[in-house]
Amino acid sequence: MIGGGLMGAAIAWRLAQRGREVTVVTGPGPIEAPGATAAWASAGMLAPVTETNFTETGLLDLNLDSLRRWPRFVDELADTGADPGYRTDSTLSVAQSPDDAARLSDFADFCDDHDLTTKRLTSREARRLEPLLSPRVRSALLVEADVSCDNRMLWSALIHAATTAGVRFTPGEVEAVTTDDDRATGVRLRTAEQVTADHIVLAAGAWSGSIDLPVEVPVRPVKGQILRLHAGTLPRLTHTVRAFSHGQEVYLVPRHHGEVVVGASVEEMGFDTRVTGEGAWSLLRDARQVMPLTAEYTLNEFSVGFRPGTPDNSPFLGPSGVPGLTLACGHHRNGVLLVPLTADAVVEHITDGRLPDCAAPFTLARPMTARKPRREEEP
Ligand SMILES: Cc1cc2nc3c(=O)[nH]c(=O)nc-3n(C[C@H](O)[C@H](O)[C@H](O)COP(=O)(O)OP(=O)(O)OC[C@H]3O[C@@H](n4cnc5c(N)ncnc54)[C@H](O)[C@@H]3O)c2cc1C
Repeated sequence: MIGGGLMGAAIAWRLAQRGREVTVVTGPGPIEAPGATAAWASAGMLAPVTETNFTETGLLDLNLDSLRRWPRFVDELADTGADPGYRTDSTLSVAQSPDDAARLSDFADFCDDHDLTTKRLTSREARRLEPLLSPRVRSALLVEADVSCDNRMLWSALIHAATTAGVRFTPGEVEAVTTDDDRATGVRLRTAEQVTADHIVLAAGAWSGSIDLPVEVPVRPVKGQILRLHAGTLPRLTHTVRAFSHGQEVYLVPRHHGEVVVGASVEEMGFDTRVTGEGAWSLLRDARQVMPLTAEYTLNEFSVGFRPGTPDNSPFLGPSGVPGLTLACGHHRNGVLLVPLTADAVVEHITDGRLPDCAAPFTLARPMTARKPRREEEP
């Protein structure tokens, strides 16, 4: 397994459950070192509905399928003694300016057209549900399907489950996948060490496209700046709140222990790990416009993570075209949500030799039309 983030740990766990011997090469730092892995930076929303846009209906179906797998997935993790911080509180999408309200209304129409259950709320109804919202919130949409987990707890839970099932995690930076007779046979590490394997899974997140592979896998880093506030003894949010706020988008994701994750920028900046003044200021400004009390919360952390972006914003699942090399990368904005489905699909592909129907449209062989990342599409 190349990569010990969410995908690598989940697939390794599932393979070990099927009796496979698995070694995960986790990357340059020690496992669970924050770095800029998306597993650490992420907001943990499980949000097929509010993450969708008007053109990506195939991805919407995939995301909805994965969401349905979450409750069982959480139960299975609980059987190993691990807790991924799963919350079933729904999501409230809110709008502030008249233009924002028009956008939200268009989105509500799209949901109606696609049988996605939502409920339109007035400002007063929204504030009855979430009294911490700004009185300037003009309209809202309650999206019951969209929930959340704590991605950091999820990552620890998966590593715990995998380790308990016998998976070996080892630090190391894979430089290349090696081949023999056109079959992938192992990896070469940056230290020149060679590791051989019957089967290799590429799950190196945003770094998947930087490794020397026998096939081109077009994954690029999409930078996200994100911050973590803590409510302390102040009143807390209950729902995840997503806002159209004066032409910008911001989300606030509450955790059981009082943290609120506020995110996130979407930037085509390569592997730029800087937190910028603009990044920090705009997130704090947008959060305060939606929920004024955030200005009183403690600012615990600013971080940067890299989403694994692909030309059409959808993941690469299953066969790479090179025998012995399977893909589980390019999950972009939905990689937390897609953990259960990805693990199931990839394990079925490796152990039974067939990719399930739900994943079949997401192989590397699909025709791809380049799509802009979501925030850049908007004025
Ligand atoms: C700011 C932000 C917010 C997000 N919010 C959400 C959200 O709310 N909901 C959601 O569903 N998704 C969200 N995502 C996306 C989600 O986090 C990712 O899609 C998901 O984490 C991808 O998982 P991964 O395992 O492919 O990559 P990662 O979690 O990034 O893991 C990559 C792994 O590969 C390793 N690696 C790197 N290079 C090498 C190498 N050369 N050799 C070996 N290993 C290597 C790394 O060390 C790491 O272990 C967000 C992402 C970001 C950045």
